[in-house]
Amino acid sequence: MTDRKGTIKVETTDILPIIKKWLYSEHDIFIRELVANATDAITKRATIARGLNQEIPTGKILVSLNKENKTLTITDNGLGMTEEEVEKYIAQLAFSGAREFMEKMEKEGKPEDSGEIIGKFGLGFYSAFMVSDKVEVETLSMNDGAKPTKWISSGETEYIFTDSDKKEVGTTITLHINTESEEFLNAWKMSETLKKFCDFLPYEIGVLDENKVTYPTKEDGTEDQSKDPLPNEPQFINETTPLWKRDPKELKDEDYINFYRQKFPMDGEPLFWIHLKIDHPFTLDGILFFPKINQNKPFNETNIRLYAKQMFVTDNVKNIVPEFLSLLRGYIDSSDIPLNVSRSSLQGDPTVKRISGYIVKKVAESLKKLWINDREKYESIWSDTGLFIKYGCVSDEKFSDLMRERIIFKNSEDKYITLPEYIESIPESYKEKMEGKVLYFEKDKSDIALKNQLLSEGVHTVEVDDYIDPHFMQHVEMKKIGESEVKFSSVDAEIANILGTENSTENDIKIKELFESILAPKKDENEKKKEDQANPFGDQGMDIEVQNIKNSTTPAFFKVDEQMKRLSKMTMSMGNNPFPVKKTLVVNPSNPLILNALKISQKENKQELVEKICHYVEDLAYISSEGLKVENRDAFVKRSQELISDLTTFAL
Ligand code: ADP
Ligand code: MG
Repeated sequence: MTDRKGTIKVETTDILPIIKKWLYSEHDIFIRELVANATDAITKRATIARGLNQEIPTGKILVSLNKENKTLTITDNGLGMTEEEVEKYIAQLAFSGAREFMEKMEKEGKPEDSGEIIGKFGLGFYSAFMVSDKVEVETLSMNDGAKPTKWISSGETEYIFTDSDKKEVGTTITLHINTESEEFLNAWKMSETLKKFCDFLPYEIGVLDENKVTYPTKEDGTEDQSKDPLPNEPQFINETTPLWKRDPKELKDEDYINFYRQKFPMDGEPLFWIHLKIDHPFTLDGILFFPKINQNKPFNETNIRLYAKQMFVTDNVKNIVPEFLSLLRGYIDSSDIPLNVSRSSLQGDPTVKRISGYIVKKVAESLKKLWINDREKYESIWSDTGLFIKYGCVSDEKFSDLMRERIIFKNSEDKYITLPEYIESIPESYKEKMEGKVLYFEKDKSDIALKNQLLSEGVHTVEVDDYIDPHFMQHVEMKKIGESEVKFSSVDAEIANILGTENSTENDIKIKELFESILAPKKDENEKKKEDQANPFGDQGMDIEVQNIKNSTTPAFFKVDEQMKRLSKMTMSMGNNPFPVKKTLVVNPSNPLILNALKISQKENKQELVEKICHYVEDLAYISSEGLKVENRDAFVKRSQELISDLTTFAL
């Protein structure tokens, strides 16, 4: 046997030590690189064999660990290499590839967050030296009459070739693991690492612990060491045909549900899913699931996993999937996403933009289809999907164009309706007064009595939340729904206009003065200035207005300026403190309670009782809308007791 020596032709000899140190915390990527090469080799063999009409062997990759010898061996039955090919691809090209990668990293700076270089593909074969003192490549090419060969390198620029007696076509790479990396010889650790990167690789991957000895078990379950050890079998770690690679026509709902349960075990049942499949102008396969929203679970950005040719790349898909879709769970597989670039340059990448646009369109189309074919289901999952669909409309123009007419709200009878349906539902006699406005009711804030009064006239309101709806309303008002412009207005701001008011009487002024003097006494200007300076976000005080709304039964309700209210809410939903908004207490002069208060106030010695009544009216307005503040509850209970005992005394 004659060993053939060679030298890697590079100027800098210090690259390998750098590779060894580089991305030290991430050195587990070596296994991904080597398995990726094995996968490529198997695919290439299949392609060539198909071309030659030869039999295509089932691709297999075996990772064997030997703690005693400190070796990790990766064997594939891919196309193998001739000695010339090893010389060219491994010794020269792979090395210069690694060097290029290093230079690029040096130029761009080592990323703080190692996730910055999205997939870190590119280091390639030489990443083996991050964990090894010596690497051997033993290989037999599939070419007719090829001779096996073995290449040995200690990570210096010199290497040797020796003869090999390898019988089977393919490549075996043996890593002599260095002292710092011995953890990779642990079968459990290796399986976990492989599962992370290769859980859906298209060829079977087995992990074999060469040092493991298992004996047959006795009846009591313990091992029988008197018998011959059982044959040592590898453990297979991957699913070779992930669900997203399969034909959606062949899949049943259970297949998706079971897959989801397995992969996202903490997330319950999926509500709905979308199978993505496209070959042109880019390739993309994937499945996106709509989860049940767990209010208690913090928002998590790593729910979508990105793969390239079934090899895991990252679960941080920011910039590939628009932010509003990161609430979804699932898998995206595309070989067209550039993997060895930083995230910031990903954002501007035209292919990434197109992929992202495609996903958005697909999601909207699927929702539209569900809307058309099964509105009942669409409505039944709305409490979970609504938030993100509205969020999508607000943040993505195209999504909005496809979806905003299918945003639904609960009307006053708890039935889901769209905005066009709402406008359609307005009784003919009120159409003019409403001017195409959508009346909204804030679930925990608006006055319930107003909503019911409107409903008794056949006018509905739509229920909105405090978080996404202020943004969504703002968004829709700048767009059109179908042909028409839409304006939202709250029940309290509109009720007088819609139901109409009676002419005012001279009592109105007296009532206003009475309520003002008790509930909103004018403050001394200087004092007020001082207060505002001390706390600009403090109590804004209250205005009193008297309005005799037709058929109104409530003694009083609160009205808030629409724009101020929205602004305050939007501030709050973005995580800031809402700024206080001035309220107006609208008092109903035809309500008996109010009239009585006025009459009693004109008597002598009844000041105390009048004050109680006025405060009580304010309390009722609170209870009917946002509820009493904790600090006001005690006073309310006390007041109620006093008032009722006064009244009941009369009855005795
Ligand atoms: P890349 O995979 O990007 O080409 P690598 O450094 O990972 O770069 O590999 C260099 C080359 O070595 C590959 O392109 C391939 O030709 C060859 N090679 C590496 N591993 C194998 C293998 N297991 N079987 C056959 N050829 C291989
Ligand atoms: Mg490679």
